[in-house]
Amino acid sequence: MSVKEAPVIMEAKHVTKKFVSGSGRPLLACNDVNLQVRKGQTLGIVGESGCGKSSFVKMIVQLYPPTEGEIIYGGRDITKLKGEELRQCRKKIQMVFQDPSAAFHPKMKVMDIVTEPLLNFKMIKKTEKEAKAKELLRMVDLPEDFVYRFPHNMSGGQRQRIGIARALALEPEIIVCDEATSALDVSVQDRVIELLVRLQKEKGISFVFICHDMALVQSFAHQVAVMYLGNIVEVLPGNEVGTNAMHPYTQAMLGAIFSTRMDFTKKIESIESEAPSPVDVPPGCPFQNRCGHCMEICRTQKPQLVEVGPNHQAACHLFQGKTER
Ligand code: SF4
Repeated sequence: MSVKEAPVIMEAKHVTKKFVSGSGRPLLACNDVNLQVRKGQTLGIVGESGCGKSSFVKMIVQLYPPTEGEIIYGGRDITKLKGEELRQCRKKIQMVFQDPSAAFHPKMKVMDIVTEPLLNFKMIKKTEKEAKAKELLRMVDLPEDFVYRFPHNMSGGQRQRIGIARALALEPEIIVCDEATSALDVSVQDRVIELLVRLQKEKGISFVFICHDMALVQSFAHQVAVMYLGNIVEVLPGNEVGTNAMHPYTQAMLGAIFSTRMDFTKKIESIESEAPSPVDVPPGCPFQNRCGHCMEICRTQKPQLVEVGPNHQAACHLFQGKTER
């Protein structure tokens, strides 16, 4: 199924998040973000630490509300939901964290961890807990007898599978993975990604996968959004990242990331200097102080995200006004 054929099940429209920094100045974590999540597909969101990707997904799972904008899911703006409606909505959008052990109670056995959401929603009886926990462990390729273990007696990869099993328990439509494989060794990371891809095929789950590893995310995401200083600067199909990435920041990221997964033959530029502070974003293009192509216009006018090819948008003055490659 191509990117466009799958129906949109969630849409972020003009989502902006402002915080107040320690110095009392406004900090723009997300700036007018527009993104779509499609049924049974993976949206990867990549960018350096502090680019706003984690703030964005926390709004998707309603850990905090946007300052402006809407997140449409099931035909309504879920950022406005409260009480029981919000609780029911959370059933359908689950999250897997980078460090699952921090999210688990150390005195809870795996059986209790993975079935807790089901008991909270009164979807199973206590007597059904063990059988359900074993079923969930089978889904994530863990032995059934792990239900009697504590998370600290398991490896990092096994704990992450427990996090995925818990997220699967409520049969969600969307699972948000926030750097869910970043703390794992490469071989374990690959096996967890294989598991996610299998679960997506079997259950039609959509994933929003937050990651700073461009090479990893392009290997399985249907669509990749590149974020810089709170702005989406490029969106393109995952399988085109290595060949068709156009934005100077995306190209710089590809050049800057060492990975055994990639084999790019074209010359790409390395990333220069550091990103400005998010409390001190310059007017014009947010990437201007690191960009080797910076022009006069880049210092005064912020480039808009425009179509540059099929399923491909970029926000850069080099491509404004171009609709096709
Ligand atoms: Fe570089 Fe200008 Fe494009 Fe920004 S808009 S990425 S500064 S060329």
